[in-house]
Amino acid sequence: MPLLHPDSALKLVLGEAASAAFGPAQSELLPLSAAFGRVLAEPLVYKVDQPPFDKATMDGFAYAKAAGSEGNPAYRVVGGSGAAGLSVRAKLNPGEAARVMTGAPVPMGSDGVERIEFCELSQDGQTVCFKQAETARNIVRRGANARAGDALLGPCFLEPQDIGILASSGYAEVPAARRPKVGVVSTGDELVAPGAELGPASIYDSNGPALSAQILRAGAEPVNYGIAGDSPEALAAVLEKALDNCDIVLLSGGVSMGNFDYVPSTLEALGVKKIFHKIAFRPGKPCFFGVRRSGSVPRAASGKGAEPAGTAPAANLVFGLPGNPMAAFVLFEFLVRPAVAALMGAEYSPRIFRARLSAPLKQAELERVDVLPLKIVNKDGEFFFEPLPYSGSTMLSVLACTDALARLEIGTGTVPEGSVINARLIRS
Ligand code: AMP
Ligand code: MG
Repeated sequence: MPLLHPDSALKLVLGEAASAAFGPAQSELLPLSAAFGRVLAEPLVYKVDQPPFDKATMDGFAYAKAAGSEGNPAYRVVGGSGAAGLSVRAKLNPGEAARVMTGAPVPMGSDGVERIEFCELSQDGQTVCFKQAETARNIVRRGANARAGDALLGPCFLEPQDIGILASSGYAEVPAARRPKVGVVSTGDELVAPGAELGPASIYDSNGPALSAQILRAGAEPVNYGIAGDSPEALAAVLEKALDNCDIVLLSGGVSMGNFDYVPSTLEALGVKKIFHKIAFRPGKPCFFGVRRSGSVPRAASGKGAEPAGTAPAANLVFGLPGNPMAAFVLFEFLVRPAVAALMGAEYSPRIFRARLSAPLKQAELERVDVLPLKIVNKDGEFFFEPLPYSGSTMLSVLACTDALARLEIGTGTVPEGSVINARLIRS
């Protein structure tokens, strides 16, 4: 049977995430100053017209034409300084003009604003003539950009510009989706935490810290469960805690078919239903995904009896990522990050860059979707993708130079130098 295509795998993940998505009851009201990077939990509308009044777009004189006045009439100057934010004379009668500044409300009855450079004020300041006719009115009418009640923003990750848009409509607080808790468990007897002493056959746990940072970048809250040894007992003990406390549980290591790979069987014993275990993807063919719904939790096995209502998540999404750090990193971006967004009711769309290849890009295995690291280089003002030497999934250090990830579909072979391709940017 052919391996599951990664697009089908992502569909399965998103389907499960959508049914486990947090409802409005789980959103919280946040001050605007704390909302950057969070997901807006519900669509919001403009609270006020934009702009909220007829607004001058030039410094100059607002004028009201007198009936039948042709040529270059003199307008009678009325009103005050007209600075933005200051009150101005409320209404112009035909034949009158008033000083206005950019951004200020124009008086009612204004036909247009003549920029100050074109204005000629009489000696006594009582009248003004225009040296040259304006081609534009230089007024944005109230509500020209948006009306109160119009759609403002839908559920989305809030960017700095969105914060500005919300502020301009008078929102001091916004409903934000709860951040999913994502438990991180590194598995492997060979692992030690950075800072501890490295034994002769041990390596530092790099997946735990990297995945925690990826979780933060995805808008979720990492919960660190440390390192679990390669035994079903050690794994079960930490997984039980993680499943009870977290919306998503992310394991790395121990998912392939090696002798010490207990992750899939231990998860299934804890009530996690397997959705898939292998995908046609490189780096990272072994990749477990499963779901535990609260109804399927074997409470007796946990020996804890009934939990108070509302403490455990209604469902857990569980990912068993390969131990190879490159594979864990890449699979997080392709499968886990979209799931984190979907739990919050948002969509994650990776940023795509398009450029020419500076050298051929070789697919390593024709029968898998191949993800390959690229560096973006600027040659005389044109950007190129430079393929990075990369021979296997253990090469985490190559990520230090990687700007983007190319994706070659099954059966692509080699993409020739000079081809224009799309790649997913991996830097914030
Ligand atoms: P595994 O998937 O457990 O067979 O691990 C595959 C490879 O990744 C092995 O070389 C492991 O030592 C390495 N590895 C597993 N987990 C981690 C980790 N948390 N940090 C760094 N390397 C790891
Ligand atoms: Mg291992």
